[in-house]
Amino acid sequence: MRLLAPYQTGLWLAEYLDIRCQLCRVYRSTPQSQLSQNYLLSNISSLPTADSISHSLKTLPNDPSFFANLRQQFNHRFNSGLLCSHCHDSIAWLPKPFNVDIASGKVLSIQTATYYEYPLRQAIRAFKHHEDMTKLPLLLHAIRQLPRPHGCHHDNSVIVAMPTTEQRLVKRGFDPVSILSAQLSKHWQIPLWHGVKRIDDTVSQQGLHVLSA
Ligand SMILES: [Zn+2]
Repeated sequence: MRLLAPYQTGLWLAEYLDIRCQLCRVYRSTPQSQLSQNYLLSNISSLPTADSISHSLKTLPNDPSFFANLRQQFNHRFNSGLLCSHCHDSIAWLPKPFNVDIASGKVLSIQTATYYEYPLRQAIRAFKHHEDMTKLPLLLHAIRQLPRPHGCHHDNSVIVAMPTTEQRLVKRGFDPVSILSAQLSKHWQIPLWHGVKRIDDTVSQQGLHVLSA
């Protein structure tokens, strides 16, 4: 079995062994499946039952989604969740989507997990700029609130994460986007595609913020 990176081990412990909320550290965390999200409830009702799993085992499956389903079953059964329901409900999840013009006559609809404000704002900054892995469980929780885009699945879609520049990788020592996009890939069951390379060297968003301040 492949060894887990330290941050992956931390996530695993947070999900399966640590029963405290990763934000308030007071209340018991609640499994994702029991949190108030309607689309999640409908997804869970379509998960395979134990009977269908055992039937699939007998028929020696070669369907890659079989293992994804097994993982979902395992998660559904043993995952203790990352946040308590109090903290989860205190965050405004899935604000109304907004459009961004990407070319003349073409708009891209953007769905964010939540607003860029406390506590996600602080978590993102600590993770991105200070490599604070203790904030990763909260960020993963936010990623899991994002419903898979309608009509997209592992046979017709890929996730393209914004590549970092070598200069930034050297400066930071890690690539926060690749860690988060790997988690999104797992959540949506859609593969990552690494076929793009960043050739510009624009000023970082943080730099832009400073410049415009
Ligand atoms: Zn909490």
